[in-house]
Amino acid sequence: SEELIRRSEKLSLVGELAAGIAHEIRNPLTSLRGFMQLYVKEDIEGIKKMRNEVMISEIDRINEIVSELLVLAKPSTEATELRDVVHELDHVTRLFEGQANLYNVQINKELDANLPFIQCQRSINQVFINVLKNAIESMPKGGQVTIEAKQKNDELHIRINDTGHGIPQNEISKIGNPFFTTKETGTGLGLMVSMRIIQNHQGTMRIESEVGKGTMVEVILPINE
Ligand code: ADP
Ligand code: MG
Repeated sequence: SEELIRRSEKLSLVGELAAGIAHEIRNPLTSLRGFMQLYVKEDIEGIKKMRNEVMISEIDRINEIVSELLVLAKPSTEATELRDVVHELDHVTRLFEGQANLYNVQINKELDANLPFIQCQRSINQVFINVLKNAIESMPKGGQVTIEAKQKNDELHIRINDTGHGIPQNEISKIGNPFFTTKETGTGLGLMVSMRIIQNHQGTMRIESEVGKGTMVEVILPINE
């Protein structure tokens, strides 16, 4: 469709841009941060300390953005391997147990047994990380995340459902645009990067959401063993 073509043109442009920006920014940032840390040690009193800490945390934030951009900069030819994607999804989920507990979020898994391995890049894990993180962040007062994985014909269907605040209709189309975020400290890059990775795998991402009820993000990956 036209929308899909527009989106993939947008994505490849973004990829080139990301490569340039990320590499230019990384090095000066690393040296800046090193010097800031020296200042903090020399100068541990009051307002100066506070300013230094703010500067360091701002540098860390830039670093986080650059890291996300670097995923886009990676050529789509990153090595693929036969992976047990659902096992990796399970593993990623465990990494979130601490954060989920903290937010009073219960994680349920409905993963079919004996799903086929698929040929894919390691970065596929980043998709699960980004989507799960969003799900948990959408439920500051707690709730449920349900993760489903099943095979449908020659596709793997992975769904991450949450009972969070949901996404207003007029915002759904903006998701995946670079820097679109509704969060105070969001980067607005997580889903753009995720869509890019899924695109590299000839897969698709589908989002359904209802304000006040929750969100379902479905990742569909072709089984290509
Ligand atoms: P970020 O998380 O840094 O804001 P993302 O690209 O991951 O960037 O997400 C973009 C936006 O999409 C979020 O700011 C939020 O508004 C919306 N969003 C994504 N996932 C969910 C979800 N599960 N529930 C509610 N809103 C979501
Ligand atoms: Mg996010």
